[in-house]
Amino acid sequence: MDINGLTFCVIGGGIGGLAAALALRQCGAQVTVLEQAAELTEVGAGLQISANGLRVLRALGVVDEDPAMAQRSYGTILRDYRKGRVISRMPPPQAGPTYYYHRADLLGLLHEAAQRAGVDIRQNARVAEVHTHPTEAEIVLQTGESLRADCAIAADGGRSVIRPALNGDETPAFTHQIAWRATIPWSQRDQKPCASLTMGPGRHVVTYPLRDQRLMNIVAIEERSDWQEEGWRREGDPTDLRARFADFGGPVRDYLAKVDQAHLWALFLRPVAQNWQNGRLALLGDAAHPTLPFMAQGACLALEDAWVLRRAFFEQPGIASALAAYEAARRPRASRVVAAAGSNARNFHLRGPMRLAAQAALMAVGSRLARKYEWIYSYDPTA
Ligand SMILES: Cc1cc2nc3c(=O)[nH]c(=O)nc-3n(C[C@H](O)[C@H](O)[C@H](O)COP(=O)(O)OP(=O)(O)OC[C@H]3O[C@@H](n4cnc5c(N)ncnc54)[C@H](O)[C@@H]3O)c2cc1C
Repeated sequence: MDINGLTFCVIGGGIGGLAAALALRQCGAQVTVLEQAAELTEVGAGLQISANGLRVLRALGVVDEDPAMAQRSYGTILRDYRKGRVISRMPPPQAGPTYYYHRADLLGLLHEAAQRAGVDIRQNARVAEVHTHPTEAEIVLQTGESLRADCAIAADGGRSVIRPALNGDETPAFTHQIAWRATIPWSQRDQKPCASLTMGPGRHVVTYPLRDQRLMNIVAIEERSDWQEEGWRREGDPTDLRARFADFGGPVRDYLAKVDQAHLWALFLRPVAQNWQNGRLALLGDAAHPTLPFMAQGACLALEDAWVLRRAFFEQPGIASALAAYEAARRPRASRVVAAAGSNARNFHLRGPMRLAAQAALMAVGSRLARKYEWIYSYDPTA
């Protein structure tokens, strides 16, 4: 269908929302983004964007062949926790290298591209609810202001307030995983940038360089039972972080010694949504399929969603059939990636003899391990 002149309201100006807004605007739609934050804020520092996500950024014209502001990855080093011994080295996927972004930089690029294309981005605009009618969607802000659009896209993240309109109330489950996030100043620019995944019993630490290797991004995950409330971000105590990973040696110990500010995320999860759309309103990104970060795919999936949504409008005769086609195309892939991320949590945190056996297997298959996930990286939503 021709969406030229149709009105879209995108709720949430994160990576998924901005990418979807830009994709729809490029087809001629009038797009408004409603973002609750007063300004672009840095929510967690590092993001790995693999080839599947990068294809969308390139197709949208947000990045070039050689992406600016990002650090090209030369692979992942798997390490044992005690002394940081290298277990295996995984080369970049055959589908193409991953790039390490500072989240604020990637959000900035998307924001700028969307604004340049003519997307109306309203900040300080928290949406309270969406009502759908046969011919339009009504979006109500917390202030009481109400907007009307031909179609609404809810890209308001893993704690989406819009998702219940399609799926009823769901209680998120605590995954018993806590993520610590921090960055430290770094300066080893003579080395080819790689990620390190250091695995220990009940914990793992992922590190990779950002911003021309001037920063090192640290994500430290631990299994924990003592957390009650769902909340993305909380100030953490670096001394507590070091104590919880005190038995980690090698590079991780050096990195943690330099942390002077850390944030904590309790990883709560809803399942992949049962209902993604109702003909006038659709969920996108984490709002539809929250995922654990253990495949580094949440933002990449949100980018894929954005492009597939655009394609669905190209291919279908009406809004309702486009949203149905979008859901049908996205649900199987998103569910499969979410499941892969969930099983990695178990693989990374093995204890005792299981861990030793897994390490022996990793040493044996080593560099071929990356191929197991080629189906994720080789997917091209823009094809
Ligand atoms: C520790 C950790 C590491 C990660 N690492 C990676 C990685 O390396 N690679 C990767 O691809 N993914 C990674 N992810 C996942 C990734 O961060 C998310 O999947 C991605 O940000 C989802 O994008 P989104 O646009 O759907 O949602 P979000 O990024 O959550 O954006 C939602 C936006 O909506 C706004 N909003 C919320 N409610 C409202 C409302 N009511 N009204 C208006 N606005 C609203 C929010 O302010 C926010 O700006 C990681 C996640 C975690 C926790």
